[in-house]
Amino acid sequence: MINQNKFISKIEANKFLNSQGDEFTIINNPDYIHPSFEIVPLALKLSPPLKGLRAVVMDMDGTITTTEKLCIHSLEFMIRKMSGKLEKDSWIGIDEKIDFPNIIGNSTTKHVEYLLTRYTKLLSSDDILKSFIYAALWTLYIGKDENRKAEVKLNLANFGLSNIHKNERLLRLTDSNSVTETELHSITDSLLGGLEMTLNLSSINEYVRIGIDIYYQRYHEILKRIEDGKGNDISRELFGNSENHLIEPMPGVVIFLSLVKGWLGEEIINIIPQLIKEYELKSNQIFAGNIDEVTNKLLTLSKYFQINPIKTAIVTSSISYEAKIVMAEMVKVARNEIPKYNLSSETENFLHNKFSNYKNLFDAFVTASDSSEIRLKPHRDLYSIALHQLGISKNIFDQVIGFEDSESGTIAIRAAGIGMCIAVPFAETSGHNLDAATFICEGGLPEALLNYNLFL
Ligand SMILES: [Mg+2]
Repeated sequence: MINQNKFISKIEANKFLNSQGDEFTIINNPDYIHPSFEIVPLALKLSPPLKGLRAVVMDMDGTITTTEKLCIHSLEFMIRKMSGKLEKDSWIGIDEKIDFPNIIGNSTTKHVEYLLTRYTKLLSSDDILKSFIYAALWTLYIGKDENRKAEVKLNLANFGLSNIHKNERLLRLTDSNSVTETELHSITDSLLGGLEMTLNLSSINEYVRIGIDIYYQRYHEILKRIEDGKGNDISRELFGNSENHLIEPMPGVVIFLSLVKGWLGEEIINIIPQLIKEYELKSNQIFAGNIDEVTNKLLTLSKYFQINPIKTAIVTSSISYEAKIVMAEMVKVARNEIPKYNLSSETENFLHNKFSNYKNLFDAFVTASDSSEIRLKPHRDLYSIALHQLGISKNIFDQVIGFEDSESGTIAIRAAGIGMCIAVPFAETSGHNLDAATFICEGGLPEALLNYNLFL
């Protein structure tokens, strides 16, 4: 049904909506948006086997990489800074059961808005001001992301604090090109001591604007350290173990990508024991399938992809600066996994080469920077952009699989018109409502291969 009239009555609007399908989702918008919600039709769930497979579109954090720990740490850090409760003794921290479903997989704005609403009582205006100024100075003088710098400047202006970064001491330091975090702390203190500054916080929206700057400052500070090769130090500092990679591929990712790109051929057979191991690691269950049967099926699949490699896209609500560092670190760790696969040296070298750059693995790389903060998941936009970049037209959306670990991500996939939506939840997203998913694979990507033959 195509609408000829630009303006229609409520009854007609209803009719149009009706023609869009049987299942809809309601998406709540951030506080400053009109209207406060949108109603969006969802693609019909498909049943396997698919007619064919042309593309796979997948989320980054929690689906391809383990980054949620970092995001959650940075969100908790934001509340700690804005409340002055830096230690566990003064505030126990974010509640896994209640809070995790609300702070994973959505847009940063929604995560921050949720936490600031829930923990409003902890916040103190002195600590909000101090942490805001420090975060703003860090972003402007140490941070590397130009979009963040622009947003921070806008925010300072909004709160009447534009002058703080024109501070003489700062200008002298930036001339010598060597601003350190210690110096920024000291400048923040002197600014607060010398100036009569108050923040006029009249709505949750204003708290959120500040919270976002503090969250990103912490997240980017850690990413910068990882980028500088100090990932081990920060792992030890935050999680007490330097061997724990803060960012690494989720189980099955390296095998999955190599398979669908057609790089494994008959050597898939050598990898199956490792794939089963990764399935068991992800699902916490012993693999119960028939190994001969699985081997035959995956061999057929692997030969098929050798002739028909598919297109792949990353679709993430992270901004481009973050996604690039995360993916660079992911492939770095992935390269070390390849020797485990028991491959011929030729294939091993080939994969090592391919995993030297994440751009070899993905045909499209769509981040929050390609859209607007207000149109991130669960909205369809990032997925729609990815499908367009991959050259997948609507008539073959039924030959696309989308992978997501979160509630809003699975909704975004279906809202983009993809009926084969696979949820790959993990511990932190176990409380999410994954009703939008066509299938839920607790065993992640390995389960999609071992138990479902990739729905083909
Ligand atoms: Mg995710």
